[in-house]
Amino acid sequence: MPLISLGEIKILTLFLVVLFRYVFLASVAFSLFYVVRRESWRFKKIQQKFPVGKDYRREILYSLSTSVIFTFVGWLVFMTPVKEYTRAYFTIRQHGVGYFVFSIVLILVVHDAYFYWTHRGMHHPAVFKWFHRVHHLSVNPSPWAAMAFHPLEAIVEAGIIIVWYFFSLFIRWPLLCF
Ligand SMILES: [Zn+2]
Repeated sequence: MPLISLGEIKILTLFLVVLFRYVFLASVAFSLFYVVRRESWRFKKIQQKFPVGKDYRREILYSLSTSVIFTFVGWLVFMTPVKEYTRAYFTIRQHGVGYFVFSIVLILVVHDAYFYWTHRGMHHPAVFKWFHRVHHLSVNPSPWAAMAFHPLEAIVEAGIIIVWYFFSLFIRWPLLCF
């Protein structure tokens, strides 16, 4: 019996892709703006101070937790029988190139609207503390804050993957743009 199953390899790969995207983009921005050009580009910062160690630690820990949640929702939608209930399609030929290009524009609009309304909803005083306060603890955000969400907010954010599949979308496109 193999040490690790194919399903586990797929989940691990998905997690590493989510994690790599975060670590790569954040570390490039951090290296450039916070290390190499720290002093010469300081004037470009809105706040002249830099975050301190506990801020970086909080941002990274919450971003790691978000990576796990994004992986779980991605696994649920793309790698379990749930996939059969979506309108995802698997070859561009199925709906043609015209629809494929249109769907890219469509999903950008849908994603933007989803982000706007959920963000606005999470600022409602009844839920702010539970969902969105963690994100706004970064009052002087570093690049490591990119995915620093409370787990409940991370679930809401990942919900866009489920919303996408109410529309007919080429299966690989949302994965790339997300
Ligand atoms: Zn906000």
